[in-house]
Amino acid sequence: MIKIHDLAKSYGNINAVDGIDLEIPSGQFFGFLGPNGAGKTTTIKMMVGLLKPTRGRIVIDGKDVAIDPVQAKAQIGYIPDRPFIYEKLTGREYLHFIADLFGMDRNVAWDRAENYLQFFDLDAAKNELVESYSHGMRQKLVISGALIHDPRVVVVDEPMVGLDPKGARQVKQLFVDLCQKGVSIFMSTHSLGIAEAMCQRIGIIQKGKIIALGSVEDLRRLAQKHDADLEDIFLELTGDTDLQNLVQSLAKPGRTS
Ligand code: ATP
Repeated sequence: MIKIHDLAKSYGNINAVDGIDLEIPSGQFFGFLGPNGAGKTTTIKMMVGLLKPTRGRIVIDGKDVAIDPVQAKAQIGYIPDRPFIYEKLTGREYLHFIADLFGMDRNVAWDRAENYLQFFDLDAAKNELVESYSHGMRQKLVISGALIHDPRVVVVDEPMVGLDPKGARQVKQLFVDLCQKGVSIFMSTHSLGIAEAMCQRIGIIQKGKIIALGSVEDLRRLAQKHDADLEDIFLELTGDTDLQNLVQSLAKPGRTS
């Protein structure tokens, strides 16, 4: 369960996040969408304790991130969009290292590490240094590391970037399974097709404020676009209708230039 109350972050006179309220229950897959510069990464960094809010409160599974940061972080699996991994560790050593940081029992942790390495087809490369891994292999390793301590909340920024179709499907399946086990997933993405297919609830942030919140059907009603897909709804709600009209006119048959 994630509770966010009146969360704000300012950089000088820029209100990057401007008083947002959100509640994501256990087992919900929540999509966090917004145009470039809307405040998504800033929100996520505050949720995972990397950035101090200017005001507001974040509670992760009953633990306040500001008051009880260690306990709150122990409940979170964070998958950043630009992950940092120690290049001079092997894939397996990296997972063991992360498990040690969380103070996990080694027998449990090492079993889980082997399971993830196998699940993501990293078995053959597990004793190679991370510096030799492709982008997609690194992404799979980072996801494994973020989940190894069995978090109650997963916070993820653009999870599918760089993954091949099989990898993307594996991650989707993993996320669905986690939700079924009661884990809340908070996913920021620009991949509206993935958000539409996977998220039970969606929040759209623009200029630091939540401008729409609900299921895809709720957002459709809000945008008054009854048969539209999430991309159309998003462009309508964020006011990018000029762009939509331009794209439609470019796509018109008979257009010569
Ligand atoms: P994108 O989709 O492009 O990644 P975003 O929604 O994640 O965008 P943020 O990175 O949260 O957006 O940025 C929100 C606003 O805060 C932007 O106006 C950005 O320029 C500003 N901002 C972010 N980080 C800083 C910083 N360290 N110093 C000053 N301004 C910042």
